[in-house]
Amino acid sequence: ACSGCITSAETVMLEKQSLDEFLLNLNKGKSIIFSLSPQSRASLAVHFGLSPLQVFKKLTTLLKSLGVRAIFDTSSSRDLTLIESCNEFIARYRESNSASEEKSKSDLPMISSACPGWICYAEKTLGSYILPHISSVKSPQQTIGAAIKNHICQELCIRPEDIYHVTVMPCYDKKLEAARDDFMFQSDSDAERITEVDSVLTTGEVLDLIKMKSIDFTTLEDSPVDKLLSNVDEEGNLYGVRGSSGGYADTLFRYASKMLFRKEIDGPLEYKTVRNADFRELTLEVDGKIVLRFALCYGFRNLRNIVTKIKSGKCEYHFLEIMACPSGCLNGGGQIKPNPGQSAKDLIQSLEATYSENVLVGDPFENPGIKRLYNDWLGQPGSEKAKRHLHTEYHPVVKSISSQLQNW
Ligand code: SF4
Repeated sequence: ACSGCITSAETVMLEKQSLDEFLLNLNKGKSIIFSLSPQSRASLAVHFGLSPLQVFKKLTTLLKSLGVRAIFDTSSSRDLTLIESCNEFIARYRESNSASEEKSKSDLPMISSACPGWICYAEKTLGSYILPHISSVKSPQQTIGAAIKNHICQELCIRPEDIYHVTVMPCYDKKLEAARDDFMFQSDSDAERITEVDSVLTTGEVLDLIKMKSIDFTTLEDSPVDKLLSNVDEEGNLYGVRGSSGGYADTLFRYASKMLFRKEIDGPLEYKTVRNADFRELTLEVDGKIVLRFALCYGFRNLRNIVTKIKSGKCEYHFLEIMACPSGCLNGGGQIKPNPGQSAKDLIQSLEATYSENVLVGDPFENPGIKRLYNDWLGQPGSEKAKRHLHTEYHPVVKSISSQLQNW
C-alpha cells in the first residue's frame, strides 16, 4: 500500500523477509514459531474451498512436518490490542472533555494504528500534526511478537533469542512494520537485540510454500491447533470479532457506550454509508446529542480527505479506523490473487463471507487466554508493563535535503 515511499534500505529488508529466508532458517537450531492472521486464513480457505478452521489445522500439519514448534493465531493478540485500545480511548475521551481546548485538540479523534501502510504514509508524508492522534497501541502482529518473546517463551522454556518468529499476513507493509527499531528490545541475558517478529510471509508466499512441497493441501490430515495463543476453545470453536480489519471501531464503540454512557449494545451495529462503502460511520445519541461518532475509513482516497479535515480542526469524529487498502485487510496486496475468471469483486465477497464462516463472535474482555496474559504477565490494561510491551511511538520522518530538492 505504501510502496510509493519505500526506501532502498527497506527494499533490501523486504527481500530478506522471504520464503527462501524462512527455508534457510529451518534446521538452524532455533525454535520456529508461526503466528497466522485470520485474513490469511480466509484467503487460503477461499482458494482451497475449505473453512478457516480447516486451513488452520492443515497448516499446523504442514508447518509441524517442517519442524515448526508452534502455530499461533493473531486473533488472540488482536483481542489484547483491542483491550488496550479501549482503555486508551476512554482515557483520551475523558481527557478531551476536561482538558483545555488547545490540549484536547490532539486527544481526539483517536486513530487506529494496526495498518503499517497508513502509519508509513502518516510518518513520511503528513508530519507531526497527525501523529499524536494515532493510538499508541501496537498492531496485533507486534503484540503477539511481544507476548511470545517476553512471556510465552518462559512457558515454553526457550530463551527469546532462540526463537525465530514468523507471521503470516495479508500485506507486504507488515514486513516494514516488523523491521522497525521500535519493535526490537535488549535481551536480559546478553547484549543481543531481540526482534518481536523475525520474518513476515504474505499469504501468497505461504501458497508458494504449499505448491513447492507438491502436496494436496485439501487432503492433508488435520492436526489439533496450539491453544496457548489461539482463539480456539476446548470444543474446537474458533472465535473472532465483527469487522474484517480487526473490529476496532466495533469493539471500541460498544465499550465506550457501556463505560461512558451506560448503554449496552447487543447484536450488530448499524453503520451508515457516508461517501462510499469504504467510508461508513457509527453514532450514539444521548438526550438528542451525538456523544460518540466513529468511522471506518478505508483506502487512500478516503483517508486523504479525513486527514485534511483533522489538519484544519474540522474533524468531528471521536475515533477513526483507518486502513490503507480499499475494503481493508482482506483485500491486502499479499493475499492470494483471484482465480482465472474470478473478478476482484467476487473474490472480496467470498473472502468476507468466509472470514466469519464458522467463527463465533467473542468478547475480547472474556477471552480466557488474554485474561491469563493479564493475570500472569501484564497486570491491568494500561499498566506500566502493558505500556512497555504493547505500546509504541511514531516518528515524523525528516526528509533529506536531496528529496526536498527533488520536490522543488
Ligand atoms: Fe496491510 Fe492493507 Fe491491512 Fe493496511 S489495510 S494492514 S496495508 S492489508
